[in-house]
Amino acid sequence: MRTVRTVADLRAELAALRAAGRTVGLVPTMGGFHAGHLSLMRAARKENDVVVVSLFVNPAQFGPGEDLDSYPRDEAADAALAEAEAVDLLFAPSADDVYPAGFSTRVTVSGLTDVLDGDPERRGAAHFAGVTTVVAKLLNMVGPDAAYFGQKDAQQALVIQRMTRDLDVPARIEVRPTVREPDGLALSSRNAYLEPPERERALSLSRALAAAEATVDAGEHSAGPVLAAAHAELEGAGVEPEYLELRSATDLSPVERVNGSTLLAVAARVGRARLIDNTVLSTHPGGQPPHPGGKPPGGPTRKRSSGDPPRKERT
Ligand code: AMP
Repeated sequence: MRTVRTVADLRAELAALRAAGRTVGLVPTMGGFHAGHLSLMRAARKENDVVVVSLFVNPAQFGPGEDLDSYPRDEAADAALAEAEAVDLLFAPSADDVYPAGFSTRVTVSGLTDVLDGDPERRGAAHFAGVTTVVAKLLNMVGPDAAYFGQKDAQQALVIQRMTRDLDVPARIEVRPTVREPDGLALSSRNAYLEPPERERALSLSRALAAAEATVDAGEHSAGPVLAAAHAELEGAGVEPEYLELRSATDLSPVERVNGSTLLAVAARVGRARLIDNTVLSTHPGGQPPHPGGKPPGGPTRKRSSGDPPRKERT
């Protein structure tokens, strides 16, 4: 694996490979690699000749008072993990290379970015403008055949899919399942902020999703009882959600009833960490619960089988 730090070097590395007809997969990240990032690298490795991982803590997507300065950064550890996944190029540019003097362009997606994390009371649409601008740039820098994103950031994935469709970006956007700890906690670089008692409380997010899932599996499809079951888990852990909402999994419009593709998204602050998680509620039996420790008492009991993926994942 080679680490490159400038757009010019990146293009130089990729030019010969492209000329030789190699396909390129891109995994955009902010580092602090965990098994979620590694699953995206593995998917890219499997489906492309060349794998590029970008490592850039993007200042443009952090708001005032957010954790830009304290965000976990350990390039040496990340490089070792990426190398072990047979990544070809680690692209770790400086902020000056990504945003040179005089930088004055933004890529924004409207509508999808006004709700959930994009609500002005929360991170706001400016957060997504930071994401879409940097992802548009990374797609232009790398020119991948496919770019890989996690369902963990469900709204981000939808926004990026919309952006690439609207701008005719010639790359496939691949969205891969959320990777979880064995007890259900969704992996996140920000989990590093959690003290042990907070980690316990943080588990209430995936438990809330599982409780909602169990309620749906028991035949209840209206929003009220489904959300109430999820709220109860959060309250039991003393966690006040920033939001806990049911929305269409395709366009984020609010929904009153769960149908085949309904996103249940949650955000909450636990200690220093602002955590998000989600599941797509299925009205069909056989979906995987977000909480692998078992659904709450009374919930359905889908048994894991040896054919299941190693970790609990939902799309
Ligand atoms: P980040 O470094 O947090 O910006 O994340 C880089 C990519 O990894 C994004 O596409 C995320 O959605 C994805 N990702 C983060 N956490 C997980 C997870 N637990 N499972 C799968 N993908 C994830």
